Amino acid sequence: MGLIRLLVIAALIYLAWRVVKNLLSQANRRDNSAPGSGQDAQAMLKCAQCGVHVPAPEAFTHNGRHFCSQEHQRLYLEHHDH
Ligand SMILES: [Zn+2]
Repeated sequence: MGLIRLLVIAALIYLAWRVVKNLLSQANRRDNSAPGSGQDAQAMLKCAQCGVHVPAPEAFTHNGRHFCSQEHQRLYLEHHDH
């Protein structure tokens, strides 16, 4: 009788430990995939002219649109600014 009670208690502790471990790993996963954690400094911007993706520091930006080069910025504005 005493042994069975010990086994039940051990099983309950094991289940509780699994639940806690599960919650902890879920919290870790959320932290790792959270945006703005410093790992996505190289944001990619899409060129409005040719659609190529360029790193944000190298992109040309005009009126909220991004371009891979000054040439494509000029081409886009020629066709879309009237
Ligand atoms: Zn382009």
